[in-house]
Amino acid sequence: AKASTERGHLRYLPQMDQDAGEQARLGAEMRTALDEGQFRVFYQPIVSLPEGRIVSVEALVRWDHPVRGFVSPAEFISVAEQNGLIVELGEWILRESCAQAVAWRDAYGEKAPQRMSVNVSARQLAEPRFPELVASVLASSGLPAAGLVVEVTETAVFGGGRTVQAVNEIHALGVRIALDDFGTGHSSLTLLQTVPVDILKVDKSFVDNITMAGRHAVIATALIMVSDGLGLMAVAEGVETAEQAAELHRLGYRLAQGYYFGKPSPEPEFDAVNEAVRPG
Ligand code: C2E
Ligand code: CA
Ligand code: CA
Ligand code: CA
Repeated sequence: AKASTERGHLRYLPQMDQDAGEQARLGAEMRTALDEGQFRVFYQPIVSLPEGRIVSVEALVRWDHPVRGFVSPAEFISVAEQNGLIVELGEWILRESCAQAVAWRDAYGEKAPQRMSVNVSARQLAEPRFPELVASVLASSGLPAAGLVVEVTETAVFGGGRTVQAVNEIHALGVRIALDDFGTGHSSLTLLQTVPVDILKVDKSFVDNITMAGRHAVIATALIMVSDGLGLMAVAEGVETAEQAAELHRLGYRLAQGYYFGKPSPEPEFDAVNEAVRPG
């Protein structure tokens, strides 16, 4: 959407109306989608680079719309944030992914992913009862707290209200906290001094050109040093090639995620991991 100002008045361009109308339509359809079960959770593997096996998965919501087909979360999560439905949708995602984690533990035993990573947005975190909700979902699903990771962005944590307190309470349950999109404008070093972060998710933008000499490898190296120095785990995001995986491994990264290892899917192949995810 683009807008320009003219003599102090905000002038809306046609594109903006289209976006606003589109967002309003999506928002209106979301209620029905929740009631009719049009949302799905897909899971993307996070792998150990030294061992070449899946150690955890990230839950990523999908909207399987009867008419529009697949709607990207990049589109509808912000709409759900604005109309507040993210609270209900987010609770459903949390319940669904914790139940799935327990089902995999039952089915695969030691081969099941050790941790389930769930994205939590600003509005959810700001809900006064959110830490209680996490505790009660863990209890009802039977997933140990150590088996859950809550992924937050800096924007969400500094969203105001009691969000910082909420992160502390969730961490106190034994749930791990991951800082998403680390290194981008959504996340900086300040947060590391404010909330108990366990995992840094190094943004795809630093991984993209890592095999070319230059800035990207420098930043990726600096970020793993920060992570190691603070005793945190780093996950390199958006790894698409064997060369990137090998280079990240060489730089000292032990965890990675990306299309090279597996796209988000309803059920990653935990059995075939040793062949499928071995880097480089
Ligand atoms: P994110 O949390 O940073 O998730 C990573 C995104 O990168 C996902 O997009 C994933 O499919 C994509 N990705 C993973 N590996 C690769 C790769 O190798 N190459 C490329 N090009 N992309 C890769 P997705 O699923 O479309 O989600 C987009 C964003 O929507 C997420 O970014 C997150 O901010 C939000 N989102 C997704 N699911 C949820 C959810 O359940 N709850 C909340 N609150 N937000 C969610
Ligand atoms: Ca994430
Ligand atoms: Ca991310
Ligand atoms: Ca992102």
